[in-house]
Amino acid sequence: MTAQIIDGKVIAQQVRDNVAAEVTKRTAAGNPKPTLAAVLVGERIDSATYVKAKGKACEELGMGSVSHHLPEDISQEELEKLIKKLNKSKKVNGILVQLPLPSHLNEERILQLISIEKDVDGFSPINIGRLAQKGREPLFVPCTPYGCIYLLEQAGVKIEGANAVVLGRSNIVGMPAALLLIGKNATVTVCHSRTKDLPGVVRQADILIAAIGKMEMVRGDWVKPGAAVIDVGINSKPDATKKSGYRLVGDVNYDEVKEVAGFITPVPGGVGPMTIAMLMNNTLRAAKIQQGD
Ligand code: NAP
Repeated sequence: MTAQIIDGKVIAQQVRDNVAAEVTKRTAAGNPKPTLAAVLVGERIDSATYVKAKGKACEELGMGSVSHHLPEDISQEELEKLIKKLNKSKKVNGILVQLPLPSHLNEERILQLISIEKDVDGFSPINIGRLAQKGREPLFVPCTPYGCIYLLEQAGVKIEGANAVVLGRSNIVGMPAALLLIGKNATVTVCHSRTKDLPGVVRQADILIAAIGKMEMVRGDWVKPGAAVIDVGINSKPDATKKSGYRLVGDVNYDEVKEVAGFITPVPGGVGPMTIAMLMNNTLRAAKIQQGD
């Protein structure tokens, strides 16, 4: 069996097209452009690249973006002052603090400070708390896990009643992905670095979401035939045939697993493009909430 490839680029483009169409309609009706403020602290190249890509996406979809690039040694107090200012600003609908922050800053306090109506990353304790409670809805769902579930739904994978295994329990991917799957009535097992017999647990999965940051760790013989496999991992693998000297691979051994699974996302071109598409969707939603729609 060869798995059906879930094309994240195509599905993300559909989300972006829908957002762009709605933005055009709203601005033509006299509403201000939905606007995202990105806060970047320090000089991490990966973080700067992500912030740039998010600004570019805003521009492409007819939305506004402002970027605040702050020095590595900024104090907690100064960063908090900026967040409070952005919370009050009528020109800003969504606030995104690019993580990770330098270790001297208290990330939890910063995330807690972002107004719930502008928390387009969905990481504030209130949004995550609502995600964890039955019958409550978060205002915003964290973008990467949201993208994973959206890919499953678009591929027609039945989530209700499925055995789902999530590899990884991080605040930004694994844990919210597990909560979303529970909310959609899957039976969920969350694995982490101390899980025993990982291959045995993974073999029970009808749906597997891998988010551990370990290059190609999930092997073909770990996967139940026909399972849906969503690979969140982004790892650089040395590759002398590439100009850069490396290529990106996931947490799943794609060549092996695609021969066993029913559905699989590639890396790159799977979950990656969904993250920014969902951020754009959340920013539009923030503007609508703030404009009383
Ligand atoms: P993270 O914060 O480092 O968390 C990794 C998780 O994996 C932890 O829960 C850890 O367990 C678990 N883990 C690590 N080694 C393991 C092992 N050998 N066996 C079982 N579990 C193990 O990572 P993250 O931020 O969630 O990111 C995960 C991956 O997704 C990374 O490759 C990252 O680059 C990628 N990512 C992609 C996107 C996207 O847009 N596509 C977005 C975010 C992240 P413990 O809790 O026990 O330490």
